[in-house]
Amino acid sequence: MRDDVPASPAPERCRRLQALLVDWFDAGQRGLPWRRTSDPYRIWLSEVMLQQTQVERVIDYYERFLLQFPTIEALAAASLDDVLKLWEGLGYYSRARNLLAAARIICERHGGRFPSDSEAARALPGVGEYTSGAVLSIAYGVPLPALDANAVRVFARLFGVKGDPARGETRRRLREIARATVPDDRPGDFNQAVMELGATVCIAGRPDCLVCPVVETCAARAAGLETEIPPRRRSSTSAVTEVAAVARDGDCVLLMQRPHDSYWPGLWVFPSADFDGPNPGEAVEALLHQAGLEAEAGHTLLELSYGIMDRRVELTVLCTEVGGEPTAERWRWVALAEIEDLAMPSPHRTIAQALPGG
Ligand code: SF4
Repeated sequence: MRDDVPASPAPERCRRLQALLVDWFDAGQRGLPWRRTSDPYRIWLSEVMLQQTQVERVIDYYERFLLQFPTIEALAAASLDDVLKLWEGLGYYSRARNLLAAARIICERHGGRFPSDSEAARALPGVGEYTSGAVLSIAYGVPLPALDANAVRVFARLFGVKGDPARGETRRRLREIARATVPDDRPGDFNQAVMELGATVCIAGRPDCLVCPVVETCAARAAGLETEIPPRRRSSTSAVTEVAAVARDGDCVLLMQRPHDSYWPGLWVFPSADFDGPNPGEAVEALLHQAGLEAEAGHTLLELSYGIMDRRVELTVLCTEVGGEPTAERWRWVALAEIEDLAMPSPHRTIAQALPGG
């Protein structure tokens, strides 16, 4: 679908949209814990946790994280292992690493306070245009847009922008619209209203236009194109098979720590690798051999499916007899009783829980 690329939105249309959305937000916003604070740290934390993650899932994590790290200083003093442990199950673990690295920089260079300047905020690890716009507008009242996936869909429909938002030209157009519509007065509430509308009413697929507070200003609805804007993207998920080894020595199991430049950076997993041959047992033995261990794969303990980034993974977990000490870095024998204290991604936590005595 090609963009007609409408001209810059008229000021009176922007004002009408701002008034309708902020009134709607005031009347019916969800009472979420990060909306009861103006502390930039808490707002930043919520924005990081909410990336790629459902609101309902974030609430518990958010509250537990703040119990342990109530301030940026407390977070900056934490170990990466402690932060990853609190993040366990939330996924996209590079967010946790970046959060910790950014907290340390904020303490070193910004007096322990999240910077109110957009350039300084965006120089922090993991803080891009969206996060800086959201935190600065909500915490400090800076009139910057916050264009997350929900806001992209809402603006595309409201202004009839038909192209694929992943394309540069369309993306630029949506940024211009978002910049032109964000008000000087209560920019944070306006941004949250846009995102709330996208999360609850102007949803992907079939938007609920009958209850939409801004239906009178919506170009997509007026043209009957609300289900066609933005165009659906084809899924680019790839199917992958993996093997994992459960090797025991008395009350210990063999674990490896994921490298920091991979997905699940710094988390502990059962030794595992991609595998596309006919014999998962051979794949496990080859994997352990690379780590300096002689191994004999046994029966299948369990099979799991999970999604990670753009991969759909079918994982076969084999019990394995192992002799010797691993020579590979970041591999070690861990007592079953200690596994609970290590940060593990959900599929590997499931394996741990399936072990007798695990
Ligand atoms: S009228 Fe429909 S398509 Fe337009 S913003 Fe509202 S819910 Fe979205």
